[in-house]
Amino acid sequence: MAEGFDVVDIIRTKRDKGTLTNPEIEWVIDAYTRGVVAEEQMSALAMAVLLNGLGGEELATWTAAMIASGERLDLSAVTRPTADKHSTGGVGDKITLPLAPLVAACGVAVPQLSGRGLGHTGGTLDKLESIPGWRAQVSNDDFVRQLNDVGAVVCAAGDGLAPADKKLYALRDVTGTVESIDLIASSIMSKKIAEGSHALVLDVKVGTGAFMKDIDRAQRLAETMVGLGTAHGVKTVALLTDMNTPLGRTAGNALEVAESVEVLAGGGPHDVVELTLALAREMLRTAGVDSDPADALRNGQAMDVWRAMIAAQGGDPDAPLPTAAEKHVVIAEHSGVLTRLDALSVGIAAWRLGAGRARKEDAVSAGAGVVMLAKEGDAVTAGQPLFELHADDSARFERALAALDGGYDIGDLFEARPLVIDRVG
Ligand code: URA
Repeated sequence: MAEGFDVVDIIRTKRDKGTLTNPEIEWVIDAYTRGVVAEEQMSALAMAVLLNGLGGEELATWTAAMIASGERLDLSAVTRPTADKHSTGGVGDKITLPLAPLVAACGVAVPQLSGRGLGHTGGTLDKLESIPGWRAQVSNDDFVRQLNDVGAVVCAAGDGLAPADKKLYALRDVTGTVESIDLIASSIMSKKIAEGSHALVLDVKVGTGAFMKDIDRAQRLAETMVGLGTAHGVKTVALLTDMNTPLGRTAGNALEVAESVEVLAGGGPHDVVELTLALAREMLRTAGVDSDPADALRNGQAMDVWRAMIAAQGGDPDAPLPTAAEKHVVIAEHSGVLTRLDALSVGIAAWRLGAGRARKEDAVSAGAGVVMLAKEGDAVTAGQPLFELHADDSARFERALAALDGGYDIGDLFEARPLVIDRVG
């Protein structure tokens, strides 16, 4: 590792729209991880990057330095091809739950390190933790063993994976520097590349409930991430998918597990099934396996893998899921067609009901959330229940209702949008 750089010079270079050298970038990421570069200095550099961007080579070096800050998992002992999926996050996005066992049932191992939710989007680990007994921590040895024995692992990332990102993401969160495409792409891809999978499918969400509100930024993020993955020898493709309305009929931890199990049983909402199959096909294709995932959903093989995957991490797939103590029903004020159901409004409502957290250290409620009894395009009649709100404490309903207020329209004409908008890679 190169030594002897002056961090203030590095900040000034980027502030003045200059180009950082590879040794400068490698040094600054390493020195920040070791605590030699101070938080306020990295904060200034992150802001300079947000304002002035990184060039292609700078971004590649930045990402490589983040990967090098920790371990890169060695999956060479896994006997099948591997493929992973990453979603940039959305409301009701439970796709990992049916997808990982489905792809494993088709012969591709799925190593998926996931996170907990913050804000209005739910985290996969929070959802799975609503299953009695299930634990998110898996050792590296057990990770490889489960990939060989079961075919899929969804678990928490250990502290050894891209520690530079852990520090930098927390810093960006409190310094207004999350939104840089370069910083988002290097953050996501450093973790995904360090995870050691051969193939990666990115689900880049676009719309009101997503990080990326407009298609142009989503496209740029997708292209940047696909470029980084490919440069590191990971076969990477991205789908741009709609997140203007929630996925499925539930937003909330145990509620989403129950809906995922319906999909694995061959039922479930059609949008969840459509996206699960679209992502599964991409994962199988990038991993070089020719198999139709719809068969594995139909014939129960994906459900078998789900049960084994949950049991391998201590969970009881047959245990009743937790439910919230209180329910409140929202009814349609008039008849018509539900022409808009806004993802962000539902996400905030679920969060306020207790399904999400405001700070990292907060606990989440397993049973809380929103059940959408009508979705965009459905005909509704006055007095019909539209939403069921679930919470442990009825005091939460008022603020959740305020979030939903203005979050949906009942009108005449509904124009359907495609769920999968584009493919990059
Ligand atoms: N998710 C990440 O892991 N990093 C980001 O920067 C944004 C979303």
